[in-house]
Amino acid sequence: MDKGRVLVVGASIAGPALAWWLTKYGYEVTVVERAPELRAGGYKIDIRGAAIDVVERMGLKDVLQGLETDMRFMSFVNGAGKRMVDVPADLFMGRGEADLEVMRGDLSRILYDETRDTVEYLFGETVTGLDVETGDVTFGQAAPRSFDLVFGADGLHSAVRELALGGSALDDLGHLVSIGTVPNHLELDRWELIYSVPGRTVNLYSTAGSADAKVLFLTATPEGLFDRHDRPGQLRILEDTFRGVGWDTDRLLDGIAQADDFYFDTVSQVRLDRYSRGRVALLGDAAYCPSFASGQGTSLALVGAYVLAGELSRSEPAAAFERYEQLMRPYVEQNLKLGRDNLGRMVSKSKLQSWFGAQMLRVLPRMPGNDALVAKVTKPIHDAARAIDLPRY
Ligand SMILES: Cc1cc2nc3c(=O)[nH]c(=O)nc-3n(C[C@H](O)[C@H](O)[C@H](O)COP(=O)(O)OP(=O)(O)OC[C@H]3O[C@@H](n4cnc5c(N)ncnc54)[C@H](O)[C@@H]3O)c2cc1C
Repeated sequence: MDKGRVLVVGASIAGPALAWWLTKYGYEVTVVERAPELRAGGYKIDIRGAAIDVVERMGLKDVLQGLETDMRFMSFVNGAGKRMVDVPADLFMGRGEADLEVMRGDLSRILYDETRDTVEYLFGETVTGLDVETGDVTFGQAAPRSFDLVFGADGLHSAVRELALGGSALDDLGHLVSIGTVPNHLELDRWELIYSVPGRTVNLYSTAGSADAKVLFLTATPEGLFDRHDRPGQLRILEDTFRGVGWDTDRLLDGIAQADDFYFDTVSQVRLDRYSRGRVALLGDAAYCPSFASGQGTSLALVGAYVLAGELSRSEPAAAFERYEQLMRPYVEQNLKLGRDNLGRMVSKSKLQSWFGAQMLRVLPRMPGNDALVAKVTKPIHDAARAIDLPRY
């Protein structure tokens, strides 16, 4: 059952997940990834709602359960490092019983291992040209090739999106985020610490089975302009914004400067009028990045891969792409809204807001009727995670 030759650009989550489904439906798949090897780094990511059904249908739920981060508590610390409030991690993240939290790198590795024998992977490679009508593609290194279909799973700054649709789809939410692996100098064990001053938040956590810790710096800034390829310049922005703000921040700045997996970007969403053109379709962050603040980017990527491949298994490409978009759009919109709403709560605007947030979390576990309150607060997350009826293909 040879359905045709397809190219997938990007080997993180959306790309290998799509490759998994497309090979199952009889496509011959090539994946190109710009990085020289599978990118191992990453933070903890949630798999929720409809995405749980997808990993179950892929037969991967058990293995992912075995890799759960098993986070126990989140604590708010003050400038002297004193833990002011401890909150059970599941409560803080609004996690339902069925939801999974794993490291991004672990999920990516599993999807890659599942597909590496049936899919052609080309690392250190990228697309430089693309004809949406013919499927002719030129690469950075390899000779040009022709594909029946081309898929952009190449993330927030997608080259495929640029080549196929042009224009700017990025919606900058006015924050900068930086993450990296640092020494676990506080010997955290499945524990996350949050330090917040007006306009700036620092998170530090260590997950099950990890000897290191991950740090995240988040700041609200109207000046999101920086050179994406200038790491020293990005580190200078972090220095200027965070040096001397209190707690162990200075030590964490020294740590992230040495991180192999240093990540720095604006917090942005992707909004598109259409997810496809001609022989090309987009998925994952390339098509509908909801920003990390939604906690839903990975779930959207997994669900998008499932729906896109499933529709292609049923119909010819033009009809499949249309139906993919129809099914995904309401789900995407709800999660984009979630991302915007959450982000506003992640960086406090004033000392009073920081204090009030911490007090609420302190008293919440002891408040009468707290279950109902928690359910109300977490409802938007669960609703967004389930805002699609997954067809059975
Ligand atoms: C700090 C932070 C925390 C996050 N936390 C969460 C969370 O808790 N929960 C959650 O669900 N999501 C989270 N996310 C988002 C999540 O990682 C993504 O939304 C999700 O992985 C979508 O995957 P993707 O495969 O579409 O894109 P990406 O993971 O961005 O992968 C794109 C891939 O394409 C490759 N690539 C890029 N350009 C090219 C090119 N031109 N040619 C070839 N290859 C290319 C990249 O190297 C990369 O491997 C977080 C993100 C950040 C930054």
